[in-house]
This record gives sequence, structure tokens and C-alpha cells, in this order.
Amino acid sequence: MEEKTMPQTEAEWLERLGPERYRILREKGTERAFTGEYYDCHADGVYRCAGCGEPLFGSGAKYDSGSGWPSFYEALDKTKIAEHEDESHGMRRVEVTCAKCGGHLGHVFPDGPQPTGVRYCINSASLDLERKS
Ligand code: FE
Repeated sequence: MEEKTMPQTEAEWLERLGPERYRILREKGTERAFTGEYYDCHADGVYRCAGCGEPLFGSGAKYDSGSGWPSFYEALDKTKIAEHEDESHGMRRVEVTCAKCGGHLGHVFPDGPQPTGVRYCINSASLDLERKS
């Protein structure tokens, strides 16, 4: 996958992503549970940011959390994921975004499996799986 140039305006982001991905990545939306492309995906490969192409998660750290969203117990490189306190919707959560493009990915929770004990709960629409061939 080649490096993508970064959109400069929201109009350019909308054109690149289309309405559904734009709503999630740029407007911090959430796809409905059990509807995304990857929640039940078991293919090997690298999950890249759907906004900018940055490699974020590996299939080796993906597990079935039962939540209806793709779940990972670790990122490929923690510095590529930014964390933000999120108190929207009457909950106290930690939002995760792509450190490179700022796209909203999902949230991280302290209830994941070992060895990390964390659960990155990520929207399928925020990801592009590069399958290992
Ligand atoms: Fe990105």
C-alpha cells in the first residue's frame, strides 16, 4: 500500500473516506456492533488506519471479545496510537486516535486478556486490513 497524502480540508477527507467512514473517523462516530467488516474476521495481516494508511494493529493481537467490534490486546507500536480522556455520552472512557492523522479509531478499556490486560475496541470502518498473501 503506498503512502497517502494527507487531506488538508474536511471536504477532502469526506471525498477520500465517503460518508460512513467520515462520520466515524472525523466525527468520532461509532458503527453499530456486529455490523462492521472485521469484528468476525480471522485473516492474517496488518490493520492499517483507513484515514492515512499507517499500520496500527496486527492480526496476531486480535481476539474475539464478543463486543461486536474488532478487538486487539495491543497495538503494533504504541506511539502510533494517541489516547484521550473522553467523557461524552455520560461515560468516562479513553478514546484512541491515529497519532498520524488524528482519525478516531475507538476506545481502549482495562478489561482485555493477558499479557496486556487491555482491550482496544476499534471500529472496522477505521481500519483497512492488508491481508498477508
Ligand atoms: Fe491515520
